[in-house]
Amino acid sequence: MDKIKIPKATARRLPLYYRYLILLNEEGKDKVSSTELSEAVQVDSASIRRDFSYFGALGKRGYGYDVKSLLTFFKKILNQDTLTNVALIGVGNLGHALLNYNFKRSNNIRISCAFDINPELTGRILSGVPVYDMKDMVEQIREQQISIAILTVPQGNAQKTANEIVQAGVKGIMNFTPVRISAPAGVRIQNVDLATELQTLVYFLEADKKLDD
Ligand code: ATP
Repeated sequence: MDKIKIPKATARRLPLYYRYLILLNEEGKDKVSSTELSEAVQVDSASIRRDFSYFGALGKRGYGYDVKSLLTFFKKILNQDTLTNVALIGVGNLGHALLNYNFKRSNNIRISCAFDINPELTGRILSGVPVYDMKDMVEQIREQQISIAILTVPQGNAQKTANEIVQAGVKGIMNFTPVRISAPAGVRIQNVDLATELQTLVYFLEADKKLDD
């Protein structure tokens, strides 16, 4: 149960299912069909059934899925029982926004510390999160047993900073810089390039317009 191997696409959809199941549970609903789930989370019901099949026989034909047992199950795989502390490196505009946001919709992940090189920012508490000097990064990351860091430094410093945080023991980097950083095997990188995402949307809209012409 702890070590099920599931496809990446399935793993990405799990938090969506989980959030919706919490809602259903709060509304006092005992069961949910894959069609209902499909409409709520905007994933086709065939994918939902396939996703759920990776977790074993959780659904019953003609009955749907039992909300409480699904919740217990997802809570376990999503590690909702344990609090994950995350570090943020680079408190610029984007870093600031993320500190302020601080994943409040999730009750098991939070940014617990931030780092910067700017003395005007360090030694302060911003949106409830202490901002340390980069000099204290290794010590804090080790002390707080942090394995995930959000990277919001300028792109010119991205690789260098990534090396430093990996050296400190970080195993997962959420990279908000447009640079494709490299890291040793065993370190996972999740790229979130907002400008490219927006550009892609512009491209698709333009393409749709051409089709309409
Ligand atoms: P953003 O790109 O988030 O809009 P910005 O334009 O406000 O940010 P940037 O120049 O991108 O500012 O820098 C982001 C933050 O990263 C700044 O607060 C800066 O002091 C910090 N920073 C720069 N280099 C490093 C580094 N090597 N380590 C840690 N923090 C750094």
